[in-house]
Amino acid sequence: MSIQHIVQQQKDFFKSQKTKDISFRKKTLKLLLKEIIVREKDIINAIHEDFRKPEYETVMTEISIVVSELKLMIRNINKWSKPKRVFPSILNFPSSAKIYNEPFGNTLIISPWNYPFQLAFAPLIGAIAAGNTVLLKPSELTPQTSNITKKIIEKVFQSSHVSVIEGGVDISQELLQLRWDYIFFTGSVSVGKIIAKAAAEHLTPTTLELGGKSPCIIHKSANLKLAAKRIAWGKFINCGQTCIAPDYVLIHSSIKDKFTTLFKEELQKAYGNNPESSEDFARIINTKNFERLQDMITNETVSIGGKTNKENHYISPTLVDSPSLTSKVMQEEIFGPILPLISYTSEEEIDEIISKYEKPLAFYVFSNKKSFAKKMISKHSFGGGTINDTTVHFANHRLPFGGIGESGVGSYHGKRSFDTFTHQKGVVSRGTWLDIPTRYAPYKGKLKQLKMLLKLGS
Ligand code: NAD
Repeated sequence: MSIQHIVQQQKDFFKSQKTKDISFRKKTLKLLLKEIIVREKDIINAIHEDFRKPEYETVMTEISIVVSELKLMIRNINKWSKPKRVFPSILNFPSSAKIYNEPFGNTLIISPWNYPFQLAFAPLIGAIAAGNTVLLKPSELTPQTSNITKKIIEKVFQSSHVSVIEGGVDISQELLQLRWDYIFFTGSVSVGKIIAKAAAEHLTPTTLELGGKSPCIIHKSANLKLAAKRIAWGKFINCGQTCIAPDYVLIHSSIKDKFTTLFKEELQKAYGNNPESSEDFARIINTKNFERLQDMITNETVSIGGKTNKENHYISPTLVDSPSLTSKVMQEEIFGPILPLISYTSEEEIDEIISKYEKPLAFYVFSNKKSFAKKMISKHSFGGGTINDTTVHFANHRLPFGGIGESGVGSYHGKRSFDTFTHQKGVVSRGTWLDIPTRYAPYKGKLKQLKMLLKLGS
């Protein structure tokens, strides 16, 4: 079936009003949940084939998140989709007022490769729960996961409701030529700008989940051992290919050496003497990214790791000591298992470094001095963050997840996913038993009464 044909089918399906039926949405979400549970092993194997992601990480960071989003939607869909009564305005007396939740219509979701299952399904669940149709374009760089994604979708949904189109940039651009009611994109900043331009053509609303250089500050008061452990976990999970991984560490100069020692110990505990043979360490997605990352450490002082193997896209967990801000590793988002460690001596230095970059997607501060952590959080602008840990704000569906400035537009997770894919329609219903004459012409002699009504008097 051609893309045009599928899109036309989805337009017709949305017009049929079928997706407005809450029990239909619930039924399909329940079927999806069942299918994902049945297919758990296939999903784990597919992601493992794509970049050797460990089963444990797939369960923790892909399947469990999707399953809990599904359960949350199924539990709350009745409540969230109901029209909400709000206080009527006295100016409209007599009247009642309600907010109706309306699906946007035909949505396009374009997803990346780094969490290939979760980042395709999490927005899709929100879109379906809110009553939209979905055309999903997963990443071409994780073909096994895209393939299992397609199989799951085809088993659960009619193609006129939800469809998966596999393919790369060409297909993505072909899809962007079409007119959508909503586009949800997760990926790089540069492609995010291409999406925004295409969407502007039809004034299509978008959510853009992008990336950036997320800083991690370690204050002298921090519990350094715990910081080393939690930073190593958040940085090297998924082989560092996480949009909210700490990109670089800013550490007080007095504790830098101690941190390096503790960090080495934590890495040893997690991945052993040779992380290449550890089952718990994934691989770089492809040769292009491997070379990009290898290039970043070529002329740097590497204090831990730095081992590479092109054949299996392996780069060991690596700590780069004091790179210059003009070095490659400090010029772009790293998106791999390389962590620059830069020391500071004053708060001004922290501010100066962070302000050299665009507003990041994530922000981390390790400190046992609450006032320092609070000051950092309020001073700097970022998508979301965590104090005394890394990446875990992602896992709380009550928190909005999204960027600001170049790291993204809009947010999702939990109820926000439902709201993201929902247009809120405000409707007033006027009573007909009384019609106050004040607003009607002729106006002569009514201004005083109007001002009283509008409370414009002194
Ligand atoms: P990417 O932008 O290269 O690709 C994302 C999607 O866009 C893929 O489906 C791809 O086929 C498509 N695409 C690529 N080039 C295109 C083009 N020229 N025109 C139209 N479509 C195009 O991103 P990626 O390499 O898959 O993912 C890595 C980036 O994504 C990183 O920058 C990371 O920070 C970001 N990311 C952000 C989040 C988030 O939630 N904010 C999550 C994961 C990844």
